[in-house]
Amino acid sequence: KEEKSLNFIEEIVEDDIREGKHGGRVLTRFPPEPNGYLHIGHAKSICLNFGLAKKYGGGTNLRFDDTNPTTEDVEYVDSIKYDVRWLGFDWVEERYASDYFDQLYTFATELIKAGLAYVDDSTAEEIAALKGTPTEPGKPSPYRDRSVEENLDLFERMRKGEFAEGSRVLRAKIDLASPNMHLRDPFMYRIKFAHHHRTGDTWCIYPMYDFAHGQSDAIEKITHSICTLEFIPHRALYDWFIKNLEIFPSKQYEFARLNLTYTVMSKRKLLQLVNEGHVTGWDDPRMPTISGLRRRGYTPESIRNFCDRIGVAKRDNLIDMSLLEFCVREDLNKSAARRMVVTDPLKVVVTNFPEDKVEPCQSENNPEQPETGDREMPFTRELYIEQEDFMENPPKKYFRLAPGQMVRLKSAYIIQCNEVVKDADGNVQEVHCTYIENSKSGQDESGLKVKGTLHWVSASEAIPVEIRQYDRLFRVEDPSSEEGDFKDYLNPDSLSVITGYAEPALQSAQPGDSFQFLRKGYFAVDPDSTADKLVFNRTVGLRDNWAK
Ligand code: ATP
Ligand code: MG
Ligand code: MG
Repeated sequence: KEEKSLNFIEEIVEDDIREGKHGGRVLTRFPPEPNGYLHIGHAKSICLNFGLAKKYGGGTNLRFDDTNPTTEDVEYVDSIKYDVRWLGFDWVEERYASDYFDQLYTFATELIKAGLAYVDDSTAEEIAALKGTPTEPGKPSPYRDRSVEENLDLFERMRKGEFAEGSRVLRAKIDLASPNMHLRDPFMYRIKFAHHHRTGDTWCIYPMYDFAHGQSDAIEKITHSICTLEFIPHRALYDWFIKNLEIFPSKQYEFARLNLTYTVMSKRKLLQLVNEGHVTGWDDPRMPTISGLRRRGYTPESIRNFCDRIGVAKRDNLIDMSLLEFCVREDLNKSAARRMVVTDPLKVVVTNFPEDKVEPCQSENNPEQPETGDREMPFTRELYIEQEDFMENPPKKYFRLAPGQMVRLKSAYIIQCNEVVKDADGNVQEVHCTYIENSKSGQDESGLKVKGTLHWVSASEAIPVEIRQYDRLFRVEDPSSEEGDFKDYLNPDSLSVITGYAEPALQSAQPGDSFQFLRKGYFAVDPDSTADKLVFNRTVGLRDNWAK
């Protein structure tokens, strides 16, 4: 069977379509709060919302949930739009919860008129003290039974800015004995003299999430409003507002949020890492943000693939980072051009090769895509190989370079080691080899069989590049569940910078390009690169080394 089984949300949607609910129409929304950059958890939500709509012939709105002016900013709005598009999705409409402030205000007055909302003059502490516990009912505030007229007047004056911040709130009048604490007269509006990035100073009262979200869904006629599990207890309130306002019956469904090992996924925590300089920015390649992953060399395909593989769960879980790495490795193996780079050079002098000669060798760009052809690698008298590819006293079955032994230099010649040159302390300085003239790759007539193949570069033609190697950002699997401050668990060695000697074909690489450095892994050109110096980020190694 090729068909994947449906996830539980797809089952709900298919049932709804079968029953002709909303005329079979599917409209989802992705509702980020513009208070930070998107992370891989958001990607999960994006793939789910946009993916569902795509699968069932519907659409998705991008809605900025911007009801909390103090933490929000247009910088975040722009980055979110960029990231959603980069992931490969497009929205039907771009909406803002703040576009509905007038409508929400009207909704609130309707509830007041119906006797279902009241202005409470109590302090936050007084209200909390009367709230009760899950097993004990709450007690009514002394302001609970105000007349409709008084409530309307006070609410209007709240809006006009007549009252101090924190002095009054508007509350829904529901059920102080409900076992669901969210139904014990929840707040609808609070006073906040804050400048909003879109509405400016028009408002000094702002709706709470619960009074904005469901109504925004209803205004847009969202059919399936998908959110994460922590909103399960909010669902009764979501339904209560919709029912009592008699507006479009959007429905909320909940799935498990994505958590990844060795990182954190809360914007508040990510913001701390940025503000306190633990990383260089939201797009630091160690960050789990979309912009960080992009800079690290992740492709949209690999992220979508990852989201697809982990599926849609009903229970919270912690996904292994190595699965995300597997997905990018799989994608880059298909798409990334191969190049040779030596990071720990040992000089090889080919004593029977002329001093000034530069001989081009053809090397395939990508065996997975033969149509991409070859590039030229210059072979010269002085070469670099990796230190670890040479041993003076090798054990048995060592197939790399050693005195008297032969290896093939990838796409070039077979060489044989004849002499080891050492400094006064006995350290190997260079090795002298001879090349076998009729052994060139593609036209080998030497008849020799060698077991080892090494990557290499020409010492005189190679270009030095900066390579940034990344390790886990945190030392522990789940920093958020550890005792104390999550930042105490940062890995102090999450970044190491080394120099590499790259074959000259890399000179024309552009920021964003990805390559496989043979025998090393996948590397992406960083935007910090200049005309004088290329900078590469190691996206991921060739295989999973995390188990060690
Ligand atoms: P954070 O805790 O990072 O601040 P949030 O839920 O407050 O996350 P929003 O901007 O409100 O961030 O999220 C937009 C949408 O993305 C919401 O529908 C939210 O449920 C979803 N989302 C956020 N984080 C995750 C996650 N880790 N896994 C799946 N979905 C997520
Ligand atoms: Mg949120
Ligand atoms: Mg949040």
